[in-house]
Amino acid sequence: MTDAVRDTLARPLASLRLSVTDRCNLRCRYCMPEDDYVWLPRASILTFEETERLVGVFAELGVHKVRLTGGEPLLRHDLPTLVRMIARNARVTDLAMTTNGLLLATQAAPLRAAGLRRVTVSLDTLRPERMLAFAKSARHGDVLEGIAAARSAGFERLKLNTVVIRGFNDDELADLIEFARERDAEVRFIEYMDVGGATRWSMDQVVSQREMLDVLRRRFGAIEPIAGDPRAPAERFRLPDGTTFGIIASTTAPFCTSCDRSRVTADGTWLLCLYAEHGIDLRDPLRRGATDAELATLIRDTWQARRDRGAEERLGVTDRGALYRIESLRADPHREMHTRGG
Ligand code: SAM
Repeated sequence: MTDAVRDTLARPLASLRLSVTDRCNLRCRYCMPEDDYVWLPRASILTFEETERLVGVFAELGVHKVRLTGGEPLLRHDLPTLVRMIARNARVTDLAMTTNGLLLATQAAPLRAAGLRRVTVSLDTLRPERMLAFAKSARHGDVLEGIAAARSAGFERLKLNTVVIRGFNDDELADLIEFARERDAEVRFIEYMDVGGATRWSMDQVVSQREMLDVLRRRFGAIEPIAGDPRAPAERFRLPDGTTFGIIASTTAPFCTSCDRSRVTADGTWLLCLYAEHGIDLRDPLRRGATDAELATLIRDTWQARRDRGAEERLGVTDRGALYRIESLRADPHREMHTRGG
């Protein structure tokens, strides 16, 4: 395996989140709560060939994990073709996708056949009426069908992502664990983050990892931490009956010191941190005819200078509120979580 390029904190360039579209078919309150959005211009969206080429350059520099995301990745036309193109790169040993599952029922099998290895489906509630209120969608049944289809398509692992928000779904933690257990999936509870797009974020809506564990201990008994990959964002735990689950405590216990992730938006903007104010334009050199070696130099030099610790810096903010106001997001949609990908 290639020796990965390292940044100023010795963090390797190892994991890439590829946002394949900024469009989404949900309007989750914690991500896209506004009535209208400024979208990336269509002509700026990278073609599959451009994306494949960029992934190839990143992989030469050490990236071996690629996760497709968005927006909603299944809105990108003919995604299995892109999956097939990325999967043929032998350096990419872990190819995964995060989806809201709405379109997964028909897409799971072709994606698996194209070489996608793992899927994470976002599922914030088991109650359709809550999804309607919270994500403005009556298609809860489609998500459940998508989860079932992912199970039968034979992905290596199936995870469910749940953003936990006080007063919305914090009474469903145990039910979600049981739902996942019955489907041989693993749930990951995510602390509500003050990322761009979460314009209604406030600290009092955040349910901390500690609080989640307290609730689950009262319900299930002793909870044992599972030692694992220190670079993985989730801390994993085991219940007395062996059921496992994870918590991503990005808000109250960030893990910047081990963060090996960066993000490329659908228009080829490279972000070194989910909280970074600006990204690096890779589309322009790509379209101006830069060679792979030139792109590699740009990426290597940029990563080697990386010092970002966005989530840890947010911890130090007094009177913490939404990261960006709506005007600032409209001025640069690259600041939006749905553009950056989760
Ligand atoms: N549309 C896909 C989906 O719903 O999974 C992929 C994109 S979405 C931006 C990726 C992940 O980010 C989802 O699991 C979502 O729940 C999470 N996310 C979005 N906004 C968040 C926030 N404010 N705090 C924590 N997680 C968030």
